[in-house]
Amino acid sequence: MNAAHAPRWTPDLEDRYADLTARVGDTVPCLEWPLHLPWIDAIRELKRERGAVIMAHSYQSPEIFHGVADVTGDSLALAQAAADCDAEIIVLCGVHFMAETAKILAPRRTVLIPDPEAGCSLASSITAADVRALRARHPGAPVVSYVNTSAAVKAESDACCTSANAVQVVEAMGADKVIFLPDAFLGHHVAAQTGVELVLWDGRCEVHEQFTAQQARHTRETFDARLVAHPECPPDVQREADFVGSTTAMGAWLERERPRRVALITECSMADNLRHRFPDVEFIKPCNLCPHMKRITLPNIHACLRDLRHVVEVPEDVAAGARAALTRMLAVAGRTPVSGAPPLVVVGCGVAGLATALSAAPRKVLLLGRAPAGLNSCTALAQGGIAAALDSGDTPDAHAHDTLAAGADHNDYDAVRYLVDNAVMAVRWLQAQGVPFDLEGTRFLLGREGGHRRNRISIPVATPAAPRCCWR
Ligand code: SF4
Repeated sequence: MNAAHAPRWTPDLEDRYADLTARVGDTVPCLEWPLHLPWIDAIRELKRERGAVIMAHSYQSPEIFHGVADVTGDSLALAQAAADCDAEIIVLCGVHFMAETAKILAPRRTVLIPDPEAGCSLASSITAADVRALRARHPGAPVVSYVNTSAAVKAESDACCTSANAVQVVEAMGADKVIFLPDAFLGHHVAAQTGVELVLWDGRCEVHEQFTAQQARHTRETFDARLVAHPECPPDVQREADFVGSTTAMGAWLERERPRRVALITECSMADNLRHRFPDVEFIKPCNLCPHMKRITLPNIHACLRDLRHVVEVPEDVAAGARAALTRMLAVAGRTPVSGAPPLVVVGCGVAGLATALSAAPRKVLLLGRAPAGLNSCTALAQGGIAAALDSGDTPDAHAHDTLAAGADHNDYDAVRYLVDNAVMAVRWLQAQGVPFDLEGTRFLLGREGGHRRNRISIPVATPAAPRCCWR
């Protein structure tokens, strides 16, 4: 679209988007809104016409993240949302491997990427032929690849992982030696937490490798700030940090610690996109921008939706192998909450049951059951289902927020996060084990309960006499 056809500013936009500009006002200067709002308005209109869903990674600019995205999160959260999405069209505002992952997990959807040149230095550091050569050098060692890889590399791998579940996936391989690729710094972080020998590849994130330990120390001393680093940072930077974790784990740490001032040692937009959730926290943000993420703009989101261009395709033979590696990751992560001997059985999995369980045994494995018909329940709303952010547009963050609010903030934060972060994978794992759920096609029929602000309760069909006291 040339400048003459770009959507124009009109004064009514200011009133119609007053909520948005107030909410994100401390991140996007008021001078920029006349530039952004015409595009935001035009994209929202097109999105409605097309029945599309826009998913944005946490490193996207705030006007995209807050202005047009329906789903936001890290690469795993976006992949799960794509798998659960019932919209025909998904616009993936992130880099190419993320759009490929969405297509692999949602093969019947049309997946668009606003700029197909949006790459990633980690994903381009290794090819499928490199993986085959590594296997030949280390016969019998399983391959775990970070999700920041191409579909072809995933297809050569035994399992994928994210920075949040890498240790868990490596240990689930059941081998003494595992080939872990491609991020060497994440590999060092994982190796420090497991007895499994890791064979590493020398891939680097070109954004995170720039940070130095000297900068980290200087930031702490100058700003009197707590330091939170992504595991893609060099090991000496990680050693300087108060906490090292994935993009989702950073948000969880902030919820828990509520520091007065924090420096996020990661991509610059992360702080912008977290700031509104933590108005009491002062963020010191480095201006290290990912050049690939920043290829996505409001005008090219508009163009790809308008022309349905830059459709992401993955050849089915490659997709099948990659899907198996991704599914193994989801199965490994989903299995943990229900594996082993449960130390505690709680009858009733409504808000009251959960509150009891969480206060009695935070971070423990819990088996949640429902009372047989006829037993009194402490809430008329209990329906014997499982709460998980399965609805398109729902997120573990929103689920955690509602659960904590329902418990009047008395629940153990880590335990709530653990439950909500694993809930979707747990339901999928149960499904894979043959537990039938109430479905409409492949979509979960979800009910609402207690303090949940949206439909989130899935009901195993086999549950006897499940009272359907739910509001759709
Ligand atoms: S921030 Fe690093 S890992 Fe993420 S997309 Fe950019 S180059 Fe890749």
